[in-house]
Amino acid sequence: MTDDRVELAHGAGGRAMRALIESVFLAGVTDPEARAMGDGAAIPLGDKWLVLTTDAHVVAPIFFPGGDIGRLSVSGVVNDLAMMGACDVLALTSSVIVEEGFPLEALARVQRSMQLACEEAHTRIVTGDTKVMRRGELDGLVLSTSGVGLTDRVVRDSGLEPGDAIVVTGTLGDHGLAVLSARNALGLEGDLRSDVAPLNGLVRGALAAGGAAIHAMKDPTRGGVTSALTEMAEKAGVSILLDESALPMSAPGRAAAELLGIDPLAVANEGKALLGVHPSALASVLAALHAHPLGRLAACIGRVTEGEKGSVLLDTGFGTRRLFERDGDPLPRIC
Ligand code: MG
Repeated sequence: MTDDRVELAHGAGGRAMRALIESVFLAGVTDPEARAMGDGAAIPLGDKWLVLTTDAHVVAPIFFPGGDIGRLSVSGVVNDLAMMGACDVLALTSSVIVEEGFPLEALARVQRSMQLACEEAHTRIVTGDTKVMRRGELDGLVLSTSGVGLTDRVVRDSGLEPGDAIVVTGTLGDHGLAVLSARNALGLEGDLRSDVAPLNGLVRGALAAGGAAIHAMKDPTRGGVTSALTEMAEKAGVSILLDESALPMSAPGRAAAELLGIDPLAVANEGKALLGVHPSALASVLAALHAHPLGRLAACIGRVTEGEKGSVLLDTGFGTRRLFERDGDPLPRIC
């Protein structure tokens, strides 16, 4: 044993977190489904796949512009299932860990928010658990949510192929920037809202339009687009070239990113998906996304190449630079 301890960077969704999972949680584990480290796990069930995922939420503040921890906890799980192709979400579970003294009124608001998000996603919470920690042993509220879905075809985050178009379903960075703006009382909250939303309806439409031409999907949550695409490129052994001029940003998002000095590509999204699409289906997938209220600003932002494995490059119009995941966690408790 060493004296090494857990650091905030281990929770940042990037390289350090993947290293922790590899070295501790996957130590001695040979199960290929666990080792795939996908958005969820797929288990064969008759002629279908049962997809299972779980997620814990620790966001601060609990209520932020555009959402709250309850909406986040439902959306996070629904989206991880949808990223694997399981858009029919059968049911969710919810474990609530709450600090002594937490206002019941706030807890009721969170519960109502979870219920509304479930209605949007056409799913339900069917079982749960409640634990109370003594005052000071926990900061407010932690939600842990799991979910199961069914699909005929599993989509993996490892499926990118050279030539694929990289599509994002809307503006980048809104969740992380909205939470940080609220935390820092920047006064941008009126304009800037988290994008937190369940995406299974949007993804269902894209899959219906693109079918097997959708080679890979992933939601760019912690670590943002840079982390998600780096992981996808590493798993597929490909490179990704992004076109900076094609990246969709909201005006308030752009303003907040500049004010906070934060790279919007490194910030969490909670209502966006990245898709790797064979060029033959790009137009039809984009049309399907544009037809859904959550995909109106979907755009092709780059393409997959045979360059250096695991690299993500940004064409700025003046040249090309490589995007690297951050080593530390400048943004703890963003989701
Ligand atoms: Mg995910």
